[in-house]
Amino acid sequence: MGQKYTYFFGGELTEGEKSMRSLLGGKGANLAEMCRIGLPIPPGFTVTTEACANYHQSKDQISIELEEQIIDSLNSLEKFRGARFGDPDNPLMLSVRSGAAISMPGMMDTVLNLGINDEVLEGIANKTGNRRFALDLYRRFIDMFGDVVMGVKHSFFDKELISIKNRKGVQHDQELDIEDLEELIQRYQRVYEKHVSQPFPKDPLKQLLLSVSAVFRSWNTARAVKYRQIHSITHLFGTAVNVQCMVFGNMGESSGTGVLFTRNPATGEDLLYGEYLINAQGEDVVAGIRTPEPIAKLEKQNPVIYKQILGITQHLESHFKDMQDVEFTIEEGELFILQTRTGKRSGEAALRIAVEMVENGLVDKAAAVSSLVSPDHLNQLLHPHFKDLSSYKDQILAIGLPASPGAAVGTIVFSAEAAENAAKEGKAVILLRIETSAEDVGGMHAAAGILTARGGMTSHAAVVARGWGKCCVAGCKELDIDYGKLRVQIGEEFFGEGDYLSLNGTTGEVVRGRQELEQPQLSGNFETFMSWVDPFRKIGVRGNADNGNDAQHALDFGAQGIGLCRTEHMFFEENRILLFQEMIIAATEEDRRLALSKLLPFQKADFLEIFRIMAGLPVTIRLLDPPLHEFLPHDLEEQKEVAKDLGVSLQRIHNRLETLIESNPMMGHRGCRLGIVYPEITEMQTKAILGAALELKREGVEVIPEIMIPLVGTLEEFRHQKNVVQKVANQLFEQEGESIHFLVGTMIEVPRAALMADELAKEAEFFSFGTNDLTQMTFGFSRDDATKFLPNYIEKGILPDDPFQTLDQEGVGKLLKIAKKKGRTSSPHLKLGICGEHGGDPASVEFCCRIGLDYLSCSPFRLPLARLAAAQAALKMGKEEV
Ligand code: PEP
Ligand code: MG
Repeated sequence: MGQKYTYFFGGELTEGEKSMRSLLGGKGANLAEMCRIGLPIPPGFTVTTEACANYHQSKDQISIELEEQIIDSLNSLEKFRGARFGDPDNPLMLSVRSGAAISMPGMMDTVLNLGINDEVLEGIANKTGNRRFALDLYRRFIDMFGDVVMGVKHSFFDKELISIKNRKGVQHDQELDIEDLEELIQRYQRVYEKHVSQPFPKDPLKQLLLSVSAVFRSWNTARAVKYRQIHSITHLFGTAVNVQCMVFGNMGESSGTGVLFTRNPATGEDLLYGEYLINAQGEDVVAGIRTPEPIAKLEKQNPVIYKQILGITQHLESHFKDMQDVEFTIEEGELFILQTRTGKRSGEAALRIAVEMVENGLVDKAAAVSSLVSPDHLNQLLHPHFKDLSSYKDQILAIGLPASPGAAVGTIVFSAEAAENAAKEGKAVILLRIETSAEDVGGMHAAAGILTARGGMTSHAAVVARGWGKCCVAGCKELDIDYGKLRVQIGEEFFGEGDYLSLNGTTGEVVRGRQELEQPQLSGNFETFMSWVDPFRKIGVRGNADNGNDAQHALDFGAQGIGLCRTEHMFFEENRILLFQEMIIAATEEDRRLALSKLLPFQKADFLEIFRIMAGLPVTIRLLDPPLHEFLPHDLEEQKEVAKDLGVSLQRIHNRLETLIESNPMMGHRGCRLGIVYPEITEMQTKAILGAALELKREGVEVIPEIMIPLVGTLEEFRHQKNVVQKVANQLFEQEGESIHFLVGTMIEVPRAALMADELAKEAEFFSFGTNDLTQMTFGFSRDDATKFLPNYIEKGILPDDPFQTLDQEGVGKLLKIAKKKGRTSSPHLKLGICGEHGGDPASVEFCCRIGLDYLSCSPFRLPLARLAAAQAALKMGKEEV
């Protein structure tokens, strides 16, 4: 036998089951499963996703083989049902619905009421004694078939309906009588013929095959393709099609149709939540033509059916072990379930449902952790969000990158200074910049949200904002910012200081005006659920933290250490930046050392604070990394001020800047290259780190410092810096009469470092993958400028995702694997971590777990989701091993 393309569902003859989602789609697999557990399902058959893939491969043709199997299944269905498709005396009516393996709500097509034509119409009218009902079916079918299958716009049909209703002076479809509907059908058929240039197909089999083809084709409509792109659905090859017996909710007052969730999807409350309409078909509920009733009302209106629904929904939950989203129809007092699927829910609801399902013994903790709460749910909970997510859609001005989640509302400012001043007055502002740099951090911190025109997911603004859990939309190309005029053009509109904007950092939306915000509230369910997560996790988790505040946040969110402390951020604080600038413009090593000696107590104080908070846990401190020009102002007025404060000429500042300016600073004088040219910087930082550690040791605080050298590409670079560190350590320990254990390791950010990892591992005591730079250098994509073309790449399918957001497992990931293998060959217990932004991305977290890294490190606010993603990965890997 050739390939099997159709699977029957109905009573004992059911062939599919719930595990067959990829072949039967979610809807098909669940219909089969519901048949198996004895629920009242209208029978039918599922045409597989493979059939859809074949259809597209053979230039949108239904193969003879598939047609034969569809006819065979139809015959079985006729027998099972005791009715015949197209038989006026005893007609079988069908629905045809899409159903991919991953639910794509509303994206693909459905055709209802198939099998009707002029003769069958009479048959139904006679059989039911309800001619109006038969006419209603027919007109609905011509409209839907014309629209969905043949591309005749619904509005053309609607025009005819409206014209008849207007003539009669009625509002609702139900007010049309038999004559009106007869006329409507005539008119609909004429509309159809006019646009299709063929009469309406009367042969039911033809209707069926054309409808199946249409559903297959709907897989590739622009909206479906876009939906898959947005949701990163890349591994599916088509939709299944469910051909199912019709049941009618529009047969009078004892009929109806509805949709419900088995629990409240917004709050998680364990109560049926949904709505229904009496005497209606499913599309009436969705189309909003009539206002449905809340499901609770059904209890009064029809207690028998309500009780039955309650029983079935409980059965569904205990069988599928999750909250369900169910469609049902009542046909003359008989209840049918048309579909069930996992219900979408808010973050708050997800936690409550998970906790209550475990407490009620419906699922165990492993199941709750692996499937009832997603990292996205946690993300929602940790940040402020808009109160009403649907009301502002028509106010969206532009969409940038969702760089840091949450929402923010405020008036616009165009400089960091203005943001700081506004914050002092207690005003909430949105800081708008073409891009940000380290000198903007004060204003960024003061702002409620950050919006940039340039820069990607690992741009300065994105990384810094995520670190603070602050909302940020980056790389929004539609912004045309004019700093001179203090205004921004977005599309045709101009906005200036004082105008309100709202940002949704979770979606990248820039919204007009002042949307209402809701603050996150972490319920007891959060604590309970997170306490279940950690025991499943195998990989360690650390936070990226640059100061005591961040470190405290990291600790609160479950960090087991600090994986990256970017020391440069400390130099931007008020009384340090001038000292740092003094160090940069110093003409001699002596002057540089003098400036550094003034910075030393500040650095030491920073480390004292972080070490104290992280007592007993490892803290990885990275030595200075960014190019020095970032620390000098680029604006003339500010340069004048710096010159004045330092007591030097403006020319001197200019001269120094000229020597520092590079055409390619990301690949220029930065990272360990700074410490090699100016070892005194490394010396000062080492003194601050180890000095602070010794001081705390004397107080009885356990400190575990790890010194990390950035941007290493060769063994000699690493050796040089390690020697500087070691020399300072030896001197300090001798001077203090006491020592402390510490590690010196390297970041792996340059492809060469990954390739030479066996060499590096002979000297380095740990590796930490800096996947932001490693991605930049492996692809040769500038992390700040790639947003100019990456969206286009993703749209064209050249890349599946933004590699700065989700690790490119094939390419960059290969370097991680090579580095791990080579590193552990030289040093079998070498500690391996990741501290690039990918450490907080669920798919990348899974990859890190799979290749066996020891820990990941990410922004504190991403820690809960990284912990969950890591636990989910461990559970998944455990299952694969069985
Ligand atoms: C990295 O490159 O991945 C990294 C963590 O360093 P930074 O983002 O500071 O360059
Ligand atoms: Mg880096």
